[in-house]
Amino acid sequence: MKHKILCPVCQVAFLQEGHLKPQEVVICPVCGAKLEVTEVEPEISARKLEQPPQEEIEQRIEAFAKLRGFVFNEDRGMVLEGLMEKKKQFGDFFCPCKFDNIPENICPCLETRKGFVRKEGRCHCGLFNASKG
Ligand SMILES: [Zn+2]
Repeated sequence: MKHKILCPVCQVAFLQEGHLKPQEVVICPVCGAKLEVTEVEPEISARKLEQPPQEEIEQRIEAFAKLRGFVFNEDRGMVLEGLMEKKKQFGDFFCPCKFDNIPENICPCLETRKGFVRKEGRCHCGLFNASKG
C-alpha cells in the first residue's frame, strides 16, 4: 500500500510504501527530514520529529547526502555552525550562505534539491558535493 505524505519541511508530497502507524518515523526522500506520522485516518499526516536542533540538522543532511549520493568536505563543521546560528536567530535551518531567510532556503535548499549540485559540483555553500576533492 502506498501513502501520500506531505513533508512539512520541504512542502513536497511523496509516496511511502507500507502500512503506516501513528508515531512511525519516515525519512522524506526529497529533503532527508525525519518525520513522525501523526494521523493515518482519513489521510496520513506527519510532522517534523522532535529532536534537539543539532541532531535534527545533522541527521537531515546525512540522510539527504545518502539519498543523492553526495559527499561532505572539510567545510561541513563550519556550515553546520552557520546553520545552528540561523536556527537560533531566525527559527529554522536557513542556508548560512544566503541572505534571505525564506522557506526555499531551508537546508537542503530548493536549488540543491532541484539538481544544482549535479550541475555545479557543489551546493551554494559547499556543504553538499557531487564528489570528493
Ligand atoms: Zn521533505
